[in-house]
Amino acid sequence: MSSIVAIVGRPNVGKSTFFNRLIQRRDAIVDSVSGVTRDRNYGKSEWNGREFSVIDTGGYVKGSEDIFESEIRRQVELAIDESDVIVFVVDVEEGINPMDEEVAKLLRKETKPVFLAVNKVDSGNRMDDTYEFYNLGLGEIFPIAGMSGSGTGDLLDAVVAALPEEIEQTEEEELPRFAVVGRPNAGKSSFINALIGEDRYIVTDIAGTTRDAIDTRFNQFGFDFNLVDTAGIRRKAKVKEDLEFYSVMRSIRAIEHSDVCILMVDATRGFEGQDQNIFWLAEKNRKGVVILVNKWDLIDKETMTAVQFENKIREEIAPFTDVPIIFTSTVTKQRLLKALEVAVKVFENRKQRIPTSKFNETMLPIIESTPPPAIKGKYIKIKYCMQLPTPTPQFVFFANLPQYIKDPYKRFVENKLREIYDFEGVPIDIFFRQK
Ligand code: GDP
Ligand code: GDP
Repeated sequence: MSSIVAIVGRPNVGKSTFFNRLIQRRDAIVDSVSGVTRDRNYGKSEWNGREFSVIDTGGYVKGSEDIFESEIRRQVELAIDESDVIVFVVDVEEGINPMDEEVAKLLRKETKPVFLAVNKVDSGNRMDDTYEFYNLGLGEIFPIAGMSGSGTGDLLDAVVAALPEEIEQTEEEELPRFAVVGRPNAGKSSFINALIGEDRYIVTDIAGTTRDAIDTRFNQFGFDFNLVDTAGIRRKAKVKEDLEFYSVMRSIRAIEHSDVCILMVDATRGFEGQDQNIFWLAEKNRKGVVILVNKWDLIDKETMTAVQFENKIREEIAPFTDVPIIFTSTVTKQRLLKALEVAVKVFENRKQRIPTSKFNETMLPIIESTPPPAIKGKYIKIKYCMQLPTPTPQFVFFANLPQYIKDPYKRFVENKLREIYDFEGVPIDIFFRQK
């Protein structure tokens, strides 16, 4: 379970610069596979051997210079709700701004650890200007320069030390976790309620197993699992007005702590930006994904067929298109159990381990008949491959010149792998390494 660090502060203080510095290295690895970057406000970071997620909350309310105070307030409240540690960034060039005071006031009331980063301290003589920020009443200050990275090491040492202990999971929590995610009104609670209505499927009701989410333990298809209701999180939230991006923010923790995400889409609205963002959060976290196109009862099948809808979604989620898409209705109860059954299958796909000898027998002939293209007259040879013993499927191919293998070839290998083995709904990683 990874902890969440939120970056807050008014526009232009350097939040995204600092954020990019934190996630840089990790992202390069993950995105080299898919070749795309999508949500630029969320990423994974690692410091002193501790992994954590970073959210640039400013990114979710960006857009204008003259941002409203009420929006900053929401941003900070959201950060307080959704994160474990908060980094509050201010700008030494500008000194204390009334909006900084506003943010500080909110943060002072909180018990969560807050670190005050005074940014743009590029030179020694700017150091003297940092002291005024003690007036914000948030304790120690961390002078940094997000651009060069100076001072960020000390700040991160402190941040990581303040992250909550990684809790050992109880047996109950080790059950597979399926998170029901999606935009407001997609039908998440209706889905869960419909399933709960069929109470013969339920074993027990465990409220608050995790901090916010509501878990329901199911036993179906000879399989025990927890269904995590993220709609419940929203209901409890302080924020009344449910702005779209908050549904993304609020999904983060549930997604991170899940094995499979059941992403519900409202068929009457189509598959839009926020759906894509939530999908991408699941993919980025290497979680299994099942897409439910819900409210299918409301669609006029003359104008929109399932195949058309499905194709449109696959265009949006490319290149990770090997994902089950199921058309449901919580009103007519159409395919609700089917959805669970598929989620169970995706869970199993994600856990599957391919024996090394079998894997070599299957993959090496394919690679031999379609090798990576030669570069500068040099032939690239792959002699051996294996699945790594990692929690999510990762495959390594050992080559004489791995640095010359480009993304299109990686995709070719991934496509072949998906044709042969069933990894439907599961993001996979492929690496080429030196023999
Ligand atoms: P955000 O709106 O808070 O996300 O701020 P940005 O990260 O977009 O940065 C706003 C401006 O401050 C940009 O022009 C950055 O180049 C600049 N900036 C960020 N970090 C530093 C720094 O360490 N030193 C200096 N001098 N400028 C910086
Ligand atoms: P949530 O915010 O994702 O939990 O969405 P809800 O479950 O609260 O559903 C939002 C609205 O859509 C409610 O008025 C539901 O009755 C309605 N709804 C949910 N699923 C369906 C469905 O399959 N068909 C139809 N026609 N309406 C639905």
